[in-house]
Amino acid sequence: MAALYWLVFLGSLCIGTVDGAGYLGRMPHHGGSCYYEDIKNAHFSYDEETCRRPDKWCCLHKCWATCGSTRRQSPINLDTSEARRTNANLKLYNIDKRVPATTHNSGHAPHFDVAEDNKDITLKLKNIIINKRWSKDTYIFHDIHIHLGKKENKGSEHSIDGKFYPMEAHMVFYNSKYEDISEAKSKDNGLAVIGVMIQVNKKHGDDNDDEDDDDDDDDDDDDAKKGNENEYDDEDEKDDEHDEYEGGEDNERSKREIRAKSCCRSNYWNYEYREHDEESFSKKCYEGRGKCKVRFAKTLSCLMEKYYEKIKEYHEQDNTTNGNHGPRCEYCGKKPSDYFIKEVCQKKAGNHSNTVIECGITPADVLPYDQRFYTYPGSLTTPPCYESVQWIVYKCPIKVSRKAFKALQRVEDTENNPLKEHGVRRPLQFNRYKVSVSKNF
Ligand SMILES: [Zn+2]
Repeated sequence: MAALYWLVFLGSLCIGTVDGAGYLGRMPHHGGSCYYEDIKNAHFSYDEETCRRPDKWCCLHKCWATCGSTRRQSPINLDTSEARRTNANLKLYNIDKRVPATTHNSGHAPHFDVAEDNKDITLKLKNIIINKRWSKDTYIFHDIHIHLGKKENKGSEHSIDGKFYPMEAHMVFYNSKYEDISEAKSKDNGLAVIGVMIQVNKKHGDDNDDEDDDDDDDDDDDDAKKGNENEYDDEDEKDDEHDEYEGGEDNERSKREIRAKSCCRSNYWNYEYREHDEESFSKKCYEGRGKCKVRFAKTLSCLMEKYYEKIKEYHEQDNTTNGNHGPRCEYCGKKPSDYFIKEVCQKKAGNHSNTVIECGITPADVLPYDQRFYTYPGSLTTPPCYESVQWIVYKCPIKVSRKAFKALQRVEDTENNPLKEHGVRRPLQFNRYKVSVSKNF
């Protein structure tokens, strides 16, 4: 019944006056008999073994045709030697302000979402041309989500000089010209997304992966010599709490309360990012230094450890937040009636089982110390793959605890499977002409 509902629902969204049956009747033949099932479920997959794999996204749904574009699709490899040096810059406002937020499992990645009515944290792009003009728009902070792979050596979506990282965080901002992200995300200047590479902390030899990541090791060594930011260890009590939380089912509630306190504890996050404020923005650019200073993102680690457990299971309704990912409250072509948006989309959006994050979130949870970045015009890396994103990808990574990484690995996908071989990342895209990448260093 539910499947039938969605079938009709999708047909009515995308075709307008044409009914669902007409839509299916006019579908191009693709992928054989499994195509009908794909449309019916309206889910995409990263699994190369299925008909819903990334190179088929374009044909799973009429609204997703852009996924087959070769104009400015993301992610790409960022080649430092080929990137053009510019004086591109960012201005982030209220960079370390914590704002109310919730978290949910989209079935493709766990999200930390800013509460809808909060528009305090904004981003301005400086000396960056979007759509043939200098960008002067303001972008509003919307969410943070994280992509990863099954193996640590390949989990990021972008690669930098051919190197992948275990995870990649995306901080999504939408243009304030538009009412909300649903409206913005299909526009040329609709979105700005900050990408941050994430390493896994190597702690006391607990890294049992068979891949070596030489640059990472160098970075860790560098941090270790400085005697800071390498572990939680300078705050032993927090480590104890982590262990206790992981310990088992007993007294789960009280343990979670402890964790909640530790994530929100003011001395945890108030100072963590203080040196990365607007004034020190350019001073902290390690221009010419070459090597990255890798920040151990303690608050992000804490949030991942605590909240990914709570949203581990995927629930069907979770994927309805204004069409953020997935087509359910989305339309292409004719706009559905206001009634439809209010009564169907918003009602559905209100049903999903979001979990409130006690201390909220801020970009400072994710941003690296080092201000070097690449920027290029690209696309969403999930359907509908709109070519509406100005990407800002930081050169230098942050790192999170191994427990945080493991918690992320356990988050289930749309079919309630744990992370599989393919991970939760779109493969590199090869556009017809190389996308023009700039760098600020
Ligand atoms: Zn993303």
